[in-house]
Amino acid sequence: MKVTIIGGGIVGLSSAYYLNRAAHEVTIIEKGDLSDGCSHGNAGMIVPSHIIPLAAPGMIAKGIRWMFNSTSPFYVKPRLSLELLRWGYQFYKHANERHVEQAIPALKELSLYSKSLYQQLAAELPFDFGYAERGLLMLYQTAETEKEEAETAAIANAHGVKAQILSKEEVQALEPAVRVTARGGVYFPGDAHLTPHNLMRQLIPYLKNRGVTFLTNTVAEDFEKANRKIVGVKTSAGAYVCDEVVLAAGSWSGAVAKHLNITLPMQGGKGYSFLLKGVESNIRIPSIFLEARVAVTPMGNDLRFGGTMEIAGTDQRISMNRVKGIVDAIPRYYPDLKVELPDAKQVWHGLRPCSPDGLPYIGRAKGINNLIIATGHAMMGLSLGPGTGKLVSDLISGKQPEIVIDQFEVGRYT
Ligand SMILES: Cc1cc2nc3c(=O)[nH]c(=O)nc-3n(C[C@H](O)[C@H](O)[C@H](O)COP(=O)(O)OP(=O)(O)OC[C@H]3O[C@@H](n4cnc5c(N)ncnc54)[C@H](O)[C@@H]3O)c2cc1C
Repeated sequence: MKVTIIGGGIVGLSSAYYLNRAAHEVTIIEKGDLSDGCSHGNAGMIVPSHIIPLAAPGMIAKGIRWMFNSTSPFYVKPRLSLELLRWGYQFYKHANERHVEQAIPALKELSLYSKSLYQQLAAELPFDFGYAERGLLMLYQTAETEKEEAETAAIANAHGVKAQILSKEEVQALEPAVRVTARGGVYFPGDAHLTPHNLMRQLIPYLKNRGVTFLTNTVAEDFEKANRKIVGVKTSAGAYVCDEVVLAAGSWSGAVAKHLNITLPMQGGKGYSFLLKGVESNIRIPSIFLEARVAVTPMGNDLRFGGTMEIAGTDQRISMNRVKGIVDAIPRYYPDLKVELPDAKQVWHGLRPCSPDGLPYIGRAKGINNLIIATGHAMMGLSLGPGTGKLVSDLISGKQPEIVIDQFEVGRYT
């Protein structure tokens, strides 16, 4: 079949990988040049530990508290937007325990499925992208966070995701080369990490060599439809005929779906990162500073710091105040790491595609028989990429998906 994928992020590329292996003719339409989207500069963590969706009890109160602090890690940019209001209402409706309980098994299954596919990819792809299984350390400094994290660890263990509560001495023993300041931590041994820009940069030529067509600097603008089917994608460079369409346009997917009269609540969750090159005594295990919501990942000799979640539509401006919030947090947890505020040009930013209930959209769209939507993975898109791509390929190939995807239904808010 001729399959057109809109979007060349990790979800689009993973879909292309599995569709190509299933002998489909694949074209990726990408509005940028594929050098630096959200899937490139992220923190590279593969996190089956993250089974609690963003829409969870307590997040609204935290969001309101953080709104008045310009260096805070979570922020909703106030603006008069009907889409933001609708998104916010759905978030509010889902930030409860019942939703979390229902979401956990679905997220866990997709996450473990995707991790197992990363293991295969690391073994089979002819290039190295730094995949390593060393777990994840969640570091905390206050009694309040310790209590919250102990509860999260108990939930994880109850669902079969191993979590170990560590004293500060046990945390330090895991990081012998770097001094750590923390009251304690929770260690998730099942997590992994990789170097996302190395994965993306090598996967693109690999797919090209295998016959996948890339149309870069080409915007999918509208669709030609007939009999409840898309017959062509209208782009800035002409129309493309296809049998099946995959919408994997990340934070822009809601806007693209509008052309098909599909409601897909979506907000970009802006985050920043920067890379410290050639760190002499590097950390071994990726970590998250819980109070500051900063993610730290070793990538070879380099070290990436990432953080902040600004719900800001598709606004791309950089707030150096929030980058400063990340930099200021570093010596509080790793006192020997001296990090200067990077120049704005060195700061990467990306928009996480956030659905209001914290679950991705994966599946066929209602009302259009040849459209699959695959987006909305928020802070877990890298982790869930291969799993999503394999599901997309199986759906198009008429195969039974290997995991249950009911909770990711595209039309769940309508
Ligand atoms: C600071 C930060 C840290 C993160 N850390 C992690 C992490 O450690 N682990 C993890 O799992 N996830 C992490 N994430 C989240 C992860 O990066 C995203 O969820 C993931 O990259 C989303 O992938 P995607 O393919 O859905 O979207 P994208 O990568 O955004 O790709 C979508 C593509 O569609 C293109 N597009 C949009 N509209 C059109 C159109 N009309 N026509 C053509 N092309 C179009 C865009 O240009 C874009 O390239 C992090 C994100 C940030 C910001």
